Amino acid sequence: MPTDSGVDRARLAALADRERASFAERRPRSAAAYQRADHLFGRVPMTWMNKTAAGFPIYFETAHGNRITDVDGHEYLDFCLGDTGAMAGHSPAPVVDAVTRRLAGPGGATTMLPTEDAAAVGAELARRFGIPYWSFALTATDANRWAIRLLRAVTGRPKILVNSYCYHGSVDESLIVVGPDGRGRSREGNVGAPTDVTTTSRVAEFNDLEGLERELAHGDVAAVLMEPALTNIGIVLPEPGYLAGVRELTRTYGTYLINDETHTFSAGPGGATAAWGLEPDVLTIGKAIAGGIPIGAYGLSAGLAEAILARTDLDLVDMGGVGGTLAGNPVSMAAARACLEHVLTEPAFDSMIATATAFAGGLRKIIEGYALPWSVSRLGARVEYRFADPAPRNGTESAAAADGELEDFLHTYLANRGVLLTPFHNMALMAPQTTVADVERHHEIFAAALGELTAATA
Ligand code: PMP
Repeated sequence: MPTDSGVDRARLAALADRERASFAERRPRSAAAYQRADHLFGRVPMTWMNKTAAGFPIYFETAHGNRITDVDGHEYLDFCLGDTGAMAGHSPAPVVDAVTRRLAGPGGATTMLPTEDAAAVGAELARRFGIPYWSFALTATDANRWAIRLLRAVTGRPKILVNSYCYHGSVDESLIVVGPDGRGRSREGNVGAPTDVTTTSRVAEFNDLEGLERELAHGDVAAVLMEPALTNIGIVLPEPGYLAGVRELTRTYGTYLINDETHTFSAGPGGATAAWGLEPDVLTIGKAIAGGIPIGAYGLSAGLAEAILARTDLDLVDMGGVGGTLAGNPVSMAAARACLEHVLTEPAFDSMIATATAFAGGLRKIIEGYALPWSVSRLGARVEYRFADPAPRNGTESAAAADGELEDFLHTYLANRGVLLTPFHNMALMAPQTTVADVERHHEIFAAALGELTAATA
């Protein structure tokens, strides 16, 4: 019986079994390495690495540009790119040179002393995003955590508002969704929540200004933390007027606005903020900006930076809750400077966005050709398809369009033929090195998968 995703479940199950068996058979070394990892919790260095479509993770051996090889000798076109951490491509030469120069030349991986690279990175981020003052973390999660603390401090308000089915890292306040009764409730699977999330957070659906206003009207929200487009429950694009409405409402209710550009950076060299003319008070980012070396960053508007620095009661230079020992380290700073100055440049974005446009166009044609009720969304250099048409308008609708079995089948089918997608969704990200020929290769395999699924001839 076809379901909402438009595929026959029995056929899907049979094909998925076949692909999983082939995946395991052709990867004995990855399978053995996984079995040997007796002293890793869940057999992996970090539990998310068990999010794998075919039962065990691929152990990679080399990663350069948009190509990965595994320990069993397979080569992959990588459209996952470390779920954005490697958006600059793997090991881009200017970043490798800068990090090597730092470590082997002047030396010092971590000192708790500044280097001049940090000021150059701050200036470049200010130029790109139009936000003047920057501070660094090691992850986007921490950038968000620290930004939240600062905004609670400066407003004296207790709550943070996020969009339902958002993702901003493992930030306690963000693990809230809109329940069927329209009220906020803990996100399913929330691990060891420190407190009932409704005491720290409010939630509204993306693209819902009425819902946002209803929540902000309580007057207890320090900040709205949001992605300008949702990217972690499929891509959900903002409808015309929505982001301007968010800015207006946050100003009306005295609430600060944080744009998390960790993923929406794919929209252009200055992220969605520059591409769409947004005016956040705070901008957070991480992952890609140091070419794969750990980093997070948050930028503050001039007024906000001034107001926070004037608060002598806040301990910003010791254990007051903001900062970390390795944050702003010279290796991250050297890497970020090289990545922004030489790799993720304006021409690089032009090429990545052109490749993504070709990817999205080709994908739409294939899906239409098989008459499947799926939709394709593109955010600059990032493309995603969802098993619903029209495209979902908010996180809850998008969550309802998930089909884990179908997603796993497609990921395994593609991996067996040398293409990697982001394990968490059907997302493809273009690196500067990704070519239209790479896109065509993906499409050939994708079309073959749909052909088998629908048993039609292409
Ligand atoms: N913000 C957004 C929008 C993200 O997508 C993520 C990670 N997927 C994060 C923050 C957290 O990044 P990290 O895991 O590097 O802390």
